[in-house]
Amino acid sequence: MSVMCKKSYAVIACTMLVFTASAQHPFRNSMDAVEIRYDHQQPVINYILKVDSGDLASFSVEMQLRNIPDTFHIAMVAHPEYDDRYWRFVEDMHVETKNGNGSIVREDSALWRISVQKNEAVVYYHIHLPPPQQEQRAAWRPFLSSTGGLIGGPHSFMYVVGATLAPSYVILKLPKGWETVTGLEHTSDPNTFFAPSVAVLVDAPILAGKLKIWNFKADGVPHTIAYWPLPNAVSFDSSEFVPSVQKLVQQASSLFGRLPYREYFFLLQDGAYGSLEHFNSVTIGASSAELSRDLTGTLSETAHEYFHTWNLMRIHPAEYGDVDYRTPKLSRGLWWSEGLTMFYADLLLRRAHLSVEDSSRIQHLEHLIRRYFGSSGNAVISPEKASLAAYGPPGMLGDYFASTHLQGELLGTMLDLIIRDKTNGKYSIDNVMRKMMERYSGEKGFISSDVEHTIEDVCGCNVHYFFENYVKGNKAIDFDKYLRLIGFHLNMSWKDFLNADDKPVPDLRVYAWQDPKDKTVKLGIADPSSCWGKVGLHTGDKIISINKNAIDSREDFWQLIRKATIGDTLLVEVQRSSDRWQTTVVVSGYKQPEVHITEIEKVTEKQRKLREAWISGGMFITKAEYSFAQ
Ligand SMILES: [Zn+2]
Repeated sequence: MSVMCKKSYAVIACTMLVFTASAQHPFRNSMDAVEIRYDHQQPVINYILKVDSGDLASFSVEMQLRNIPDTFHIAMVAHPEYDDRYWRFVEDMHVETKNGNGSIVREDSALWRISVQKNEAVVYYHIHLPPPQQEQRAAWRPFLSSTGGLIGGPHSFMYVVGATLAPSYVILKLPKGWETVTGLEHTSDPNTFFAPSVAVLVDAPILAGKLKIWNFKADGVPHTIAYWPLPNAVSFDSSEFVPSVQKLVQQASSLFGRLPYREYFFLLQDGAYGSLEHFNSVTIGASSAELSRDLTGTLSETAHEYFHTWNLMRIHPAEYGDVDYRTPKLSRGLWWSEGLTMFYADLLLRRAHLSVEDSSRIQHLEHLIRRYFGSSGNAVISPEKASLAAYGPPGMLGDYFASTHLQGELLGTMLDLIIRDKTNGKYSIDNVMRKMMERYSGEKGFISSDVEHTIEDVCGCNVHYFFENYVKGNKAIDFDKYLRLIGFHLNMSWKDFLNADDKPVPDLRVYAWQDPKDKTVKLGIADPSSCWGKVGLHTGDKIISINKNAIDSREDFWQLIRKATIGDTLLVEVQRSSDRWQTTVVVSGYKQPEVHITEIEKVTEKQRKLREAWISGGMFITKAEYSFAQ
C-alpha cells in the first residue's frame, strides 16, 4: 500500500492518512469467532451488483445462496492494511426464501446471523456510499459518478463465514455504455465474472464507466491499463505512459523468470490519491494534470504496487492468512514486504531506464539515510516493531515516528551489499527474492528468521547478528560498515533545517488523530527531542485547547499549528488520565542530517567491481542465466 509516503517531509501527514483508514470501531470483534464447518454441504453463492444511474449515492447487491444450512452467518471482510468499515453503510438488508422471509440478526458490526429454510435464500442489501469528502478519495474506495465509478472489493461483497473457498459468479448490471475492467475472471458473457474464492472475489475491484483502455502483452501475458478521467481531465501522452508500464512489467518478469498471473489490470483514476495492490490488479490515484506534466510520480507508485504482486500478495508475511471479518493480526514482516518493495520499485524503474526522482542510486541512498536519521524513531525502534505499527492504531510507537517502508528499503540495500561481498558479486538480493517466491508464495507465510535463513542459503554466510541487531533489535544501522564493502564511506553532519528560501523550518514534528471511541483529539509526538516533546507532552495526550481555542477535530489542530512560526508561543492544554494541565511550547527550529556518500581512498579491485555492478542497477539476470543463478 502506498499513500505517497516517499517524500521525506510528508511522512507524518501520510501516516495520519493510514491511521484514519485503519481506525477501528469500538464494538468490533467484541464476540468470539463464529466457527462453522462445511463438509458435504458446500454453499454456492452468486452475486448481482446493480448500479442505477438514477441513484448514484448507492448500489445494490443481491447475494443468491444455495446449499446453505438453516442458520449461517454472512460478514464483510476486514482488509489487513486498511479497514474502511463499510458495514457502516449497509442498508435495507433483508432475506427472502421460497417460503417467505427469513430472519436476520446483526450480531456484530460486520457480522449477521441469518435463519432460513430449505437451504436456499437471497440476501439483499444496499451500500449507501458516504458523501464525498472535501479531501480527495483514496483510490481503493468505491465511488459512483455519472461517467463511472469503482465498485466491488470488500466494500461490496459479503461472504458466508466458514465458506471462504466458495467460488462465485458476479453479474454486473451497470448503466448503458459503461465498460468494465477488473481482475475478476472473465466469462463468455461480458457482464458476468467469476471468482474462484472469497479471497479473489474481495481483492478484485471493478473499475467501470467511460474509460480509456490500453492493452499490451509482456512475455505473452495480457495486460490492461484503464483510466477513468474526470470530466475536466487534461489530456496526457499515453504513447509514453503505456510503453513505460510495459517496460516495468518486463523488468519484473525478468527478475522472477516469469509472470505469476493469467492477466493483469492497472486501474487508474483521476481525482483520487494513494494506491493499493491487489491479487492481479492495482488501484492507483493519478490526476490527469500530473500525468500530462510528469510521469515520475505515477510510475513510482505503479512500480511499488505492481511489485507487491509478488512481494506481499504472494510472498506474504506469516500473519496474513485467509480473509476474515475480524481485524487481521498486525504483521512483524512488513519491513520486508513494504521495504523491499520500495527497494525494487526504484531498482526496476532504473533497470527499465525510466524516470526516477533521484538521479543515481548513490543519491537515492543518501536521501534514504538522511530521512532515516531525520526521524529519530527509525534508529531506535526495531523494524519488526515499526512493522506492527505500520497499519496498527495510532500512537503505537509512543513519542517516536518510524517508517517500516524506509527501514526495510535500507535493510534490503545493506543486505544486498553483504550478499554481493560474500559471493564476490556472483549473487545479490535478486537471488533472495526469487528464493522467497519459491518458498513463501504458498499458504505458508514468512517470519523474519525465514528471510534470514533464505539469505544465508544464497550467500553461504551468517547474517544472524545483522537480524538480531537491525531487524529484531533496535540498533541504528551501521551504514558506513556496509558501504565500505563496495568502497564507499558515509559522511554525516547535522545542520539547521532550512526551507527553499534558506529560512529555518519550524519544528512541527507532531500530529493528531481523532479517537474513534470517544471522538477526542489525541496528540502524537514524532520525536521526543522536538520542542513539543521537551516540554513534557506525550503521544496519547488528549488535546483540549491551543491558545485557548478548543480543539474538536484534527482539522482544528492543523489550522492552528500550520501557521506557527519560529518563536511563536503556544499554550497547549491537554488531559492525561483524569488530570488536565497546560504547558507552553515555544516553537523552535531543528536540525536535520546532511548525508554524503563518498569513495574511500584505497579501493580494492573487488570493491571497485562490486561498486560498479551495484551502481549500474545490480546483477541484471537474463533468462538464460536464471536457472544457474537459483
Ligand atoms: Zn506498499
